Amino acid sequence: MNNKKKACEYVGIKSFEYLLPAETSEDELLDLINRLNADDEVSGILCQLPLPAHLDEKIVINAIDPKKDVDAFHPVNVGRIMTGDYDFVPCTPAGVMELIKESGVDVSGKECVVVGRSNIVGKPMAMLLLHQNGTVTICHSKTKDLAEKTKNADIIVAAVGIPNFIKGDMIKPGAVVIDVGINRIAPKKLVGDVEFETAEKVAAAITPVPGGVGPMTIAMLMKNTVKAAIAQNR
Ligand code: NAP
Repeated sequence: MNNKKKACEYVGIKSFEYLLPAETSEDELLDLINRLNADDEVSGILCQLPLPAHLDEKIVINAIDPKKDVDAFHPVNVGRIMTGDYDFVPCTPAGVMELIKESGVDVSGKECVVVGRSNIVGKPMAMLLLHQNGTVTICHSKTKDLAEKTKNADIIVAAVGIPNFIKGDMIKPGAVVIDVGINRIAPKKLVGDVEFETAEKVAAAITPVPGGVGPMTIAMLMKNTVKAAIAQNR
């Protein structure tokens, strides 16, 4: 959240933070979202997940006006990603696509393996790669022989949440490896889902953690917010 606030300041977006106590009721939270939906000063709304167990994430996300849903978690925006007719893309997959594009990697016809199928990363990630004509395989905790799948990939996107899960020997030489994972293994030590030391020896390109996908996610949030502001203010 701090990095998001700093990024807003940097690009000139006014940000309002509502730090609610953990025991906030669903009604109170929905009331706040409704007020923000109706506020012309506010172009984008994001609710930092996960929520405390007594709050239903689905109900809360559904309450955000899709036009202000700069995280692109609302079902309307999720559905539009499926059809390829979208205004907002979830920030992390959008950041990954931007990294791929800026690195000059052509996705078309490539074997793409996405490890992880969460609604906020894995699934939209797979859709975006598909829209760029990648041949996409989605892997998850029930996938059999994961290494066989990853070794076949030209592009691997790891979004698992397990430190150093993808090792160098699971990667095809020359593959492009994008590590979405952010795992805190010590108070001041973050690592990704990819074991960087072994993976960088075989990959043609690889993103570091920290400093890879994370900052791109925030940049895409800024982009979505500017888009939302322009759309709402014509
Ligand atoms: P999540 O909701 O916990 O999903 C993790 C996915 O990994 C699930 O689909 C799960 O499969 C799969 N998985 C778990 N164990 C596996 C295994 N042994 N083999 C293959 N797949 C396995 O996590 P998330 O929200 O997508 O986040 C993933 C990681 O990205 C986390 O480290 C998170 O902190 C990070 N993240 C980073 C950013 C960023 O800005 N860089 C943004 C969001 C998330 P099942 O579905 O079968 O359980």
